Amino acid sequence: MYNPKSLKAEEFISHEEVLETLEYAAANKHNAALIDEILEKAKRRKGLSHREAAVLLDCDIEEKNQEIYRLAEQIKKDFYGNRIVMFAPLYLSNYCVNGCVYCPYHAKNKHIARKKLAQEDVAREVCALQDMGHKRLAIEAGEDPVNNPIEYILECVKTIYSIKHKNGAIRRVNVNIAATTVENYRKLKEAEIGTYILFQETYHKESYEKLHPTGPKHNYAYHTEAMDRAMEGGIDDVGLGVLFGLELYRYEFAALLMHAEHLEAVHGVGPHTISVPRVKRADDIDPDVFDNGIDDDTFAKIIACIRISVPYTGMIISTRESKACRERVLHLGISQISGASRTSVGGYYEPEKEDECSEQFDVSDNRTLDEVVRWLMELGYIPSFCTACYREGRTGDRFMSLCKSGQIQNCCHPNALMTLQEYLMDYASEDTRKIGEALIQAELKNIPKEKVRHLVEENLQNIRNGLRDFRL
Ligand code: SAM
Repeated sequence: MYNPKSLKAEEFISHEEVLETLEYAAANKHNAALIDEILEKAKRRKGLSHREAAVLLDCDIEEKNQEIYRLAEQIKKDFYGNRIVMFAPLYLSNYCVNGCVYCPYHAKNKHIARKKLAQEDVAREVCALQDMGHKRLAIEAGEDPVNNPIEYILECVKTIYSIKHKNGAIRRVNVNIAATTVENYRKLKEAEIGTYILFQETYHKESYEKLHPTGPKHNYAYHTEAMDRAMEGGIDDVGLGVLFGLELYRYEFAALLMHAEHLEAVHGVGPHTISVPRVKRADDIDPDVFDNGIDDDTFAKIIACIRISVPYTGMIISTRESKACRERVLHLGISQISGASRTSVGGYYEPEKEDECSEQFDVSDNRTLDEVVRWLMELGYIPSFCTACYREGRTGDRFMSLCKSGQIQNCCHPNALMTLQEYLMDYASEDTRKIGEALIQAELKNIPKEKVRHLVEENLQNIRNGLRDFRL
């Protein structure tokens, strides 16, 4: 029985409800009157139910689809402006006891080099990341209670926050580790992590069990209920995602939104972010083995439909996607991207030798952070290294209310400009700096409150004079 308020995975992600939603969407995909009604609701910026969103995803009336894309772009502009938050993944360990069939870290893979960073290695990786200009990381690890226990993850978080190298500092550590206990989530919260990210991989229980044949991750309910435990442990920023390619995308899309509705219904706050990874080639993984791969058009439609369905949720795209693909979808709703990522353990400090490869998957965007930053600015975006909300305690519903009150232009936008100025002073190439300085001057005019604008101008000058870390 479907119940968004239930704490049982099979009830808040009811298989029957997903199937009925897909039937409803298929039956209404040419229903122009209903589609108009849903679009009208979406224009009120209050989001859509999974059923309404599924109809839009299925809609094959060209003119209405164009309206969906236009609305997604407008909603992104209204809530997130032209800022794109930058981050990088940091792989701590690829030891793993699970059997995920799409991931080269699976326990049966005897070919991949197994690596785990010691604290000195973490420090070296962090310095290398700071030298590029990164301020925000997402730490990644396989699941292995012996090699990567929670104590190890906590120690790494502490090391990362402790490294102050030149003008650099990592100011926010998001964590992407396997589902764990309330007690462990509490420890992560105490370690002052930012978002806890866990991809569902697939919401389809039967497929999930086949795709995770062995190890603790086999337990569908434990994995699916992880965000509730995280919230019980005090973490109020959680990041959802599915790995597109494993199951039918329509199924995943409806279930993902049901998960978001469940979090809102039970905890009063929806997901902080949604990621949209697609399965990639990796060590012993051939993505073509999975039948449900999606093309770029479908990918773009999914992103646009997520954007208008959950307007207050950030959306993340990684370097799994190419420059061209990222360029195509940025304006449809993406608010965070990674840059210059390495998916190997220890790959930032030192590139790996071919015979000791530990990478999780091939990246499709191999540009440096400077190149990504310049590219974003040339496209009219403001690359942001801001971490202010989390450091000011604006997490969970406090962040959402900032977003809902439309104060982003007076708060996030100035913070983006100040952190970009820091980046330009400390890390940018000459060309990038010139483009950035001009962009900041032009963007200052878009700060509505005069008082805030003056303060930001003053802070920008302070940054040019060598001071750091200003935020509103
Ligand atoms: N081990 C943790 C867990 O079980 O959730 C999470 C960390 S894992 C390093 C991060 C994510 O990478 C996984 O959740 C999965 O979605 C994704 N991933 C695994 N194999 C992949 C592949 N071949 N291509 C693209 N993404 C992949």
